[in-house]
Amino acid sequence: MITGPDLATLRAALRAIQRDLDVEQPGTGRLRLVGTEAGMFVALPDGRYWPGRAVVADGEFTETVARVAEAAQECLAEILWKTWPRCPEHETGLRVGRRDSGSDGPAWECALDGGHTVAVVGELGRAARPRAARPGMRVSDGPTTGRLAQTDRQLLDDQLPDEQLPEDEAQG
Ligand SMILES: [Zn+2]
Repeated sequence: MITGPDLATLRAALRAIQRDLDVEQPGTGRLRLVGTEAGMFVALPDGRYWPGRAVVADGEFTETVARVAEAAQECLAEILWKTWPRCPEHETGLRVGRRDSGSDGPAWECALDGGHTVAVVGELGRAARPRAARPGMRVSDGPTTGRLAQTDRQLLDDQLPDEQLPEDEAQG
């Protein structure tokens, strides 16, 4: 059973997750909590939720933040097929790392390069951001087809002078 204080704690945790979501996936909208007979779940703005992981608010607040973060990840992955968040350096999906109590709380961690911490959960906006996630670029723009096409053209233009160059030099 969810008591008032528990709900307030879950909401506070979800606000931290929402900050991180707004940084990288601003088009997703505001996540919600839904109460069901099976417990509380993190849901998408339209109410859809993944019933795999009920969230509870017992224990330390940092643990609650970690659970809600994982539930949000699962919800986005299972329903929207979105890997979130991603490492700004490696573009791989991050996982929630529990750390010692007394630290700033759980953090987004990347498994590559021997493992590194990207940001404390709720402070992803302070981490270096990849080009594709800068403000002004809408996530709903989808695949960067236009940009890739431009890059291909750029490469082609760059190659033409190089291919002609040796011939010119040979004649000179
Ligand atoms: Zn990384």
